[in-house]
Amino acid sequence: MERNASRRSFLGVTCIAIATTILGVAPGGRRVYAAALTKAQRDKLTPDDIIALMKKGNQRFRAGQESPHDYLAQQKASAKGQYPAAVILSCIDSRAPAETIMDLGIGDCFNARVAGNIVNDDILGSMEFACKLAGTKVVLVMGHTACGAIKGAIDKAQLGNLTGLLAKIRPAVEATQYPGERSAKNYAFVDAVARKNVELTTADIRRRSIVLAELEASGAVKIVGAMYNLETGILEFFG
Ligand SMILES: [Zn+2]
Repeated sequence: MERNASRRSFLGVTCIAIATTILGVAPGGRRVYAAALTKAQRDKLTPDDIIALMKKGNQRFRAGQESPHDYLAQQKASAKGQYPAAVILSCIDSRAPAETIMDLGIGDCFNARVAGNIVNDDILGSMEFACKLAGTKVVLVMGHTACGAIKGAIDKAQLGNLTGLLAKIRPAVEATQYPGERSAKNYAFVDAVARKNVELTTADIRRRSIVLAELEASGAVKIVGAMYNLETGILEFFG
């Protein structure tokens, strides 16, 4: 079966018009096209364009209609340079892989992962590199439902270095307005805290990073939050 390399979609959108740089002819006569996001393609996108493409990628994921990724072609096309459109901060949870659930390919985004998707100075530095030096236009903080780190913060779990990490999530627990049972057994509360944690994290990024706050104020970058629902596969963007 002929592989559909020519239909490489960038950020998931089939864009034959722009992604048609023919690199050569592979064994078997298959034409090989530039597969990874180029600088020109990325630079012409606005932050809102990129967010819209991420939403569409999640819709394809939910519909089981992911792009036919040719990872080898993407790897080869991106080896000499990368022009990612977004930097994502997400949880380490094995069920919430940001690239997969937004149908992204190699070279499309930076992704920092840490339990509970909180920021620290190193992650802020990574985001500043991504946006100021590498030209990325969207900072996405992605939380998810049924998050174990959030449950641990609610329970004030104590374990080695995890104790300090969970302490960084505690402000979200305290700040969550919730009328019912405030326990880790109540998933509605857990998810409300996870959402508040994303909100506080995006606020934290603006407050602690002058570089990113200025890029956002100039319109070059957008900082947004989202919650991924493990049950439905839906990625809901907000703020
Ligand atoms: Zn998690």
